[in-house]
Amino acid sequence: MSSAEKCPRTEAISALVDDELAEPARAALDAHVAGCAICAPVLAEFRQLRTTFAALPDVTPNVDFAFLVDRRIAAADVPKPKPKPRPQRWRWWQLAPATLGGALSLSLGVYLGGTLMLGSQATAQHAALQMAAFTAIPPGALCPALQACNSMGR
Ligand SMILES: [Zn+2]
Repeated sequence: MSSAEKCPRTEAISALVDDELAEPARAALDAHVAGCAICAPVLAEFRQLRTTFAALPDVTPNVDFAFLVDRRIAAADVPKPKPKPRPQRWRWWQLAPATLGGALSLSLGVYLGGTLMLGSQATAQHAALQMAAFTAIPPGALCPALQACNSMGR
């Protein structure tokens, strides 16, 4: 990747810092960041932040915040959210128009297909009659034997 290509999303650079990328993506992102004037400072800033956060001491609160929040919620007497209504099931009369439309569409397709088949059969017979004028023996040609010309129907 070069700097002319599209820069990766910030989340991808963060994943690179957190060592969360698989090898092909990691190598491609490393190559891009090495040559990109936009992404290189972002990567450096993310690494600095990671180092700074790692240096912070672990803080363990001596208060159970979940208990305090639950108690405040109970004291506020907040109404519970209504359960979501069940998704409506389709009734037969709601599906009737779609079923009727589908049946009409299929019937029309079968009817139009049938008319096409009948028309093509008549056209094929007509074309066969026209092509009967062209035989292997040109008009006025001599028959080498009488059966040769009679076998063609002449
Ligand atoms: Zn970039």
